[in-house]
Amino acid sequence: MGDMHLDLMVTDRMFGRIQAGSSEAFRLSTCPRCGRNQALVVARTTPGRVYWLRCSNCGRGLVEVDRTVYPGTKPLAEPQGLPEDVAAAWDEVRSCLGVGANTSAVLVARKILLHVAVGFGLAAKNERGRAPDFAEAIAHLETEGLITRRMKPWVDRIRQVGNSATHELPAITEAEASDVASFTEQLLKLAYEMDHLMSQPSEETDEPATGYRLIASLRPPTTEWVS
Ligand SMILES: [Zn+2]
Repeated sequence: MGDMHLDLMVTDRMFGRIQAGSSEAFRLSTCPRCGRNQALVVARTTPGRVYWLRCSNCGRGLVEVDRTVYPGTKPLAEPQGLPEDVAAAWDEVRSCLGVGANTSAVLVARKILLHVAVGFGLAAKNERGRAPDFAEAIAHLETEGLITRRMKPWVDRIRQVGNSATHELPAITEAEASDVASFTEQLLKLAYEMDHLMSQPSEETDEPATGYRLIASLRPPTTEWVS
């Protein structure tokens, strides 16, 4: 794996060298892209507060400062078939969660819910000439069947978390942000991924359709917290 370093240019004023293949040349650090947890040490400060690392699997670079890895890992997944603007917003939610920016994650997730509701037929302006509010968006998503019966336990929690994120500066917990984001992820799967998968040519199989498995995998919130 030391061969991975053959393309390196190194600034030459240095304290010492790290021998490739020695125990010093490896570090347990999780790659934000591929998730593997073994990295090659390219350089480090002495004492070791800052490490410049390279994932031993995908070869990409990461930096570890005081045991925090940058860029941060992104939780949850990217559903397939997302429109470009939704994909960008969802990526922002995941990035926010990855660095513990819980309030920002919830605010962007809320915007995504409004965007999806309008994309699925909710008028962009209501009778008062205003953009629909969060409750109107949720009601519309329920009417359209994009919020399924099994997702209902999530809805009230998300409504409360979303509202407090907008009007106040509360400390939104990681668990709250995680619930909102998980709900949003499931909504995006139902709204975009199923149609995308169904539009792909499929092989003859006895397996139930992918969409069925998606719905069957929906789970209620796993965390309990008091609003
Ligand atoms: Zn990697």
